[in-house]
Amino acid sequence: MSNQVMTVEAIRTLAHDTLKKFGADDLNAAAVAKTITKAERDGCVSHGLFRLPGYVATLKSGKVDGNARPTVKSLAPAVVQVNGHNCFAPSAVQEGRAALIEATNTCGIAIMPMIGVHHFAALWPDLEEICDAGLAAFACVSYKPSVIPAGGKKALYGTNPIAFGWPRPGKSPMIFDMATAVMARGEVGIAARDGHAIPDGVGVDADGNPTSDPNEILKGALLAFGGYKGSSISMMVELLAGAMIGESFSFEAAIRDNSDGGPPQGGEFLFAINPTLVRGNDGWGDHAEGFFDKIYEQDGTRLPGDRRYQNRAKHDRDGVEVSQIILDKIKAL
Ligand code: NDP
Repeated sequence: MSNQVMTVEAIRTLAHDTLKKFGADDLNAAAVAKTITKAERDGCVSHGLFRLPGYVATLKSGKVDGNARPTVKSLAPAVVQVNGHNCFAPSAVQEGRAALIEATNTCGIAIMPMIGVHHFAALWPDLEEICDAGLAAFACVSYKPSVIPAGGKKALYGTNPIAFGWPRPGKSPMIFDMATAVMARGEVGIAARDGHAIPDGVGVDADGNPTSDPNEILKGALLAFGGYKGSSISMMVELLAGAMIGESFSFEAAIRDNSDGGPPQGGEFLFAINPTLVRGNDGWGDHAEGFFDKIYEQDGTRLPGDRRYQNRAKHDRDGVEVSQIILDKIKAL
């Protein structure tokens, strides 16, 4: 079965219209469709249209309110809290972003805790427009347990991604965005769907035995990257996106979740930094570019995000090849 080449705009329309069909209003459908489209455009297929059936399942079950209106509240000069009131996270990021940027440009650093949101996406789309405003930014989010704490046997942590973005005047920002599991669960899901084995050291089966079968890992658990070091970073994500902001740990989110195939309710922790205010001048841009040049000087290196930006340029020009399997799934919804 051949795949379909679609324009970026056609992908956005498909995502938007599908979400609207299942009850999302314009604000929420547009925010989620934008995030899905960004992922397809940048070649992050595990967070593009692949996720649409999950978003729809969550709208259908009523777990997410497709008509939610996130509210933005200043808890302190440098704390801009967004309550999503059960929206998908892109709507909350969109509604809070301007206030976060303003608070960061006033205080030098500002935090945007997001509560009552459902995160089912990559994190870099949450940061890119903040970095485009000349700010550095960090975000992290928990999910439901699928990662074993170092030394343990039972999943407790989510795959808990972290992302950090650095603004590059005149260029797209450097953003790294990575699960703290060895591999994102979505990638394991894609491997299971396509019948591919995955490398050793990614996960264990339901009995805790190492396996490279993605279907067995989906029934079992993943490992944190870097052994106990990644495990500690994953624990940090649980604390920041949970106890710190008044939201759930992954295990608490799972207890409450209805397992409809979509994302649980949880929190997202995000902060931004104005480098000019922190440094006292605007020399940070050139200083960092010289550092990035040092990285590029070495053969075989690249910056995180470079792959995405290359895909973006190619896909804007040639369109995006979208899996027919996923298009059929969307059609069948
Ligand atoms: P990857 O391991 O594919 O990539 C992690 C980061 O490393 C990316 O920023 C990537 O940049 C960069 N990178 C990869 N190779 C190199 C290299 N050779 N040199 C320099 N940088 C490199 O990502 P993961 O599989 O860990 O995560 C995938 C996505 O899943 C993330 O977007 C994450 O947010 C999302 N996720 C979301 C969850 C949720 O609950 N919402 C849960 C878990 C994960 P580039 O993109 O340019 O390749």
